[in-house]
Amino acid sequence: MEIEIATIGGYEEVGRQMTAVRAGDDIVIFDMGLNLSQVLIHDNVETEKMHSLDLIDMGAIPDDRVMSELEGDVQAIVPTHGHLDHIGAISKLAHRYDAPVVATPFTIELVKQQLQGESKFNVDNDLKKMSAGETMSIGDRCEMEFVHVTHSIIDAINPVLHTPEGAIVYGLDKRMDHSPVVEDPIDMERFREIGREGEGVLCYIEDCTNAGRKGRTPSESVARRHLQDVMQSVEDYDGGIVATTFSSHISRVTSLVEFARDIGRQPVLLGRSMEKYSGTAERLNYVDFPDDLGMYGHRKSVDRTFKRIMKEGKEDYLPIVTGHQGEPRAMLTRMGRGETPYELDDGDKVIFSARVIPEPTNEGQRYQSERLLKMQGARIYDDIHVSGHLREEGHYQMLDALQPQHLIPAHQDLKGFAPYVSLAKGMGYEVDRDIHLTQNGNTIQLVE
Ligand SMILES: [Zn+2]
Repeated sequence: MEIEIATIGGYEEVGRQMTAVRAGDDIVIFDMGLNLSQVLIHDNVETEKMHSLDLIDMGAIPDDRVMSELEGDVQAIVPTHGHLDHIGAISKLAHRYDAPVVATPFTIELVKQQLQGESKFNVDNDLKKMSAGETMSIGDRCEMEFVHVTHSIIDAINPVLHTPEGAIVYGLDKRMDHSPVVEDPIDMERFREIGREGEGVLCYIEDCTNAGRKGRTPSESVARRHLQDVMQSVEDYDGGIVATTFSSHISRVTSLVEFARDIGRQPVLLGRSMEKYSGTAERLNYVDFPDDLGMYGHRKSVDRTFKRIMKEGKEDYLPIVTGHQGEPRAMLTRMGRGETPYELDDGDKVIFSARVIPEPTNEGQRYQSERLLKMQGARIYDDIHVSGHLREEGHYQMLDALQPQHLIPAHQDLKGFAPYVSLAKGMGYEVDRDIHLTQNGNTIQLVE
């Protein structure tokens, strides 16, 4: 059976992920993501109203025109998890394919919400839920399986396409977490089985985000312990404490909510995306928040909540807000600019349970936001975070478990691929023989 892989997006950047695998006449698309930094760099861009071709020209969504070179029918569009760089282009591209979007329940719900916000295209592809451990037929001879992985958002999977030539493992976005906070550990046992059953693994497409960092990515339980330590250290403070984190990071939000109560404060989630992700997770029963946990997204209800906090006393509350990257319109930045009714005083604490994404725009915005907060007297607790991506030893363990014949480094630019290539070379792989260095818009024929 012919096996061909199109590396469509996310092979020159972190963002706008999209890869297609053709097995005979059947094609599966993995991810359709957005490169948010290419959108935010322009002022006042409303992507909801924009045409795909303009977004492709901006470098914001994958240039899927290479799909016309693949001869076959798309059977499924498979976003691996709910981060925007994996689902953010579905509303712009999925309608071009006569295929269902297949993902885990939490991811499907986020896709659904995204499609509801789209105003240019009418995307009516079927949305199909499939959980980790389940499989679906792709054509007559292939089967797709979801393997549970741990990442910085819940319900993430690595899809595996089982073909007569071996398995294709699409390995984007995971860390090897054996004690995550709100869900099951990564299913390493299944990866080891896949590496040893049938024809083994024909190809492994891997996320190189943190390949250049030594050692192993710590578990979410380490970030949780760190956060608990920081929260306990300010337990006796009788002024304002504010926390921020990735709103899609449900495990972290859960820990913040819990520790707020431990130090005698009422947690409250503020900001549109805080309300969106946590509300969705609660509605789908992934988490069990306290009944009286307030979540407010709209400007008016947020301001009303801030006024109530100021009236009743800042010392009784922990606002958990958006703005960990210093995004100009996010809640924490607005607080720093004094645009909300919440007043910061000398000595108030701001807890960043996040790390700034190392990219000049983010770094600049985050710097500005922190300066504004400090000018009002705030004390900053930074970097209380662990990454959602594998480091070097995690990559080593994955290669050892899967023993793939071919490797395709992804989710980085060429410079970011380099440390992964050197790791793989140390394990006996060779560039152009079984390591396929590629860019956006290429196809690689693995089996003729
Ligand atoms: Zn991700």
